[in-house]
Amino acid sequence: MDAQITIVGAGVVGLAIAKRVSRDFRDVFLIEKHPTFGQETSSRNSEVIHAGIYYPAGSLKSRLCVEGKRLLYDYCRENDIPFNNCGKLIVATSVDEIPIIEAIQKTALKNGVEDLSILERDRIAELEPSVFALKAILSPSTGIVDSHSLMKSYETGLLNNGSQIVYGSEVCGIKKIKDGYEITLLDSDKNIFRFTTRVVINSAGLTSDKVSEMAGMEDDKLKISFCKGEYFRLNPPKNRLINRLVYPVPVHNLEGIGIHVTIEMGGGVKLGPDVTYLQSNNYDYKVSPSKQESFYNSARKFLPFLDYNDLSPDMAGIRPKIQKQGDPVMDFYIRDESGRGCPGFINLIGIESPGLTASLSIANYVRNLINI
Ligand SMILES: Cc1cc2nc3c(=O)[nH]c(=O)nc-3n(C[C@H](O)[C@H](O)[C@H](O)COP(=O)(O)OP(=O)(O)OC[C@H]3O[C@@H](n4cnc5c(N)ncnc54)[C@H](O)[C@@H]3O)c2cc1C
Repeated sequence: MDAQITIVGAGVVGLAIAKRVSRDFRDVFLIEKHPTFGQETSSRNSEVIHAGIYYPAGSLKSRLCVEGKRLLYDYCRENDIPFNNCGKLIVATSVDEIPIIEAIQKTALKNGVEDLSILERDRIAELEPSVFALKAILSPSTGIVDSHSLMKSYETGLLNNGSQIVYGSEVCGIKKIKDGYEITLLDSDKNIFRFTTRVVINSAGLTSDKVSEMAGMEDDKLKISFCKGEYFRLNPPKNRLINRLVYPVPVHNLEGIGIHVTIEMGGGVKLGPDVTYLQSNNYDYKVSPSKQESFYNSARKFLPFLDYNDLSPDMAGIRPKIQKQGDPVMDFYIRDESGRGCPGFINLIGIESPGLTASLSIANYVRNLINI
């Protein structure tokens, strides 16, 4: 075999996996179709270190988020990655939202998030004088991270461990052979290369379903729907009125967690992301100025100081959803596919939020699935 392990996709998750497995294996290849890392979902997100509050108890999302959060804070401290453990408020703005706040605290406790507290109006006013809320949850362990520095550090780490990265090459074929797989690559000059590998790790984000299909694993349940999230910027000087993340209570099936306030490492403030399932799987990163009205109306419920013209269109990202529109929330799909006739093929599909937070714990989990 040319490689022991081949990882498809240099987003934050593929990079973390490559760094982790290159500690234990030699001949590790990371293949990325773009000229550098993190050109898709990993650089189009809120950069929030999630606490692990909402996910169904026992799910991979919940376990890997709670564990990943601890690992990520430690990693940032040890490797000088900029982060801010700023905390977050989840706010109830009407009486009927108060029981939801209490239910969220119970779910969080089941998930091992034990540091939440419920705040009354006077305490909310002390922490965030410009925010309106009848009651709120304070999550002290939520924070933000500079995701570009994080990915750069993972890249440096995996190269130092002796792995190789092949940028500008798309995996376009995967054939099962004795004891492994033959991978076909297409580079940016349309040259074709083939090599063999014992293990394939599919961390291809928005096209991870397609990469799985290349190895013959068709499955309607794992088809990805592109689900766009747009952001609007809160223009200066009002960005200075907010000190931490502020979220409304989540919508019932967690397609998204409501248009919220995200603060950035540089002091900027964004509102979003909203949730729009795209009709077809296009890389549509346009922000619709016509959405300003609905962002304004949603956010004004807890940001009473907001004027319509305080917002401007900012950016968009796309979630790789295996949860179909209107269906219940789906867990991360992370499996060795021996049961589907593909031993040594590890699929990661539907790695939406909290994939950034959980990148290090996902990497450990995947390492433990490798059996060579
Ligand atoms: C709007 C939005 C907000 C979010 N906010 C947060 C947040 O605040 N906190 C959090 O924890 N998570 C958040 N997430 C989720 C987080 O961004 C993702 O879970 C994470 O970035 C996924 O990383 P990845 O490496 O799996 O995928 P990606 O970043 O999509 O990387 C996959 C890579 O695979 C490459 N690739 C695909 N096919 C091939 C092929 N055939 N050959 C070679 N290369 C290929 C792509 O080019 C890409 O670089 C958010 C996501 C969105 C969309």
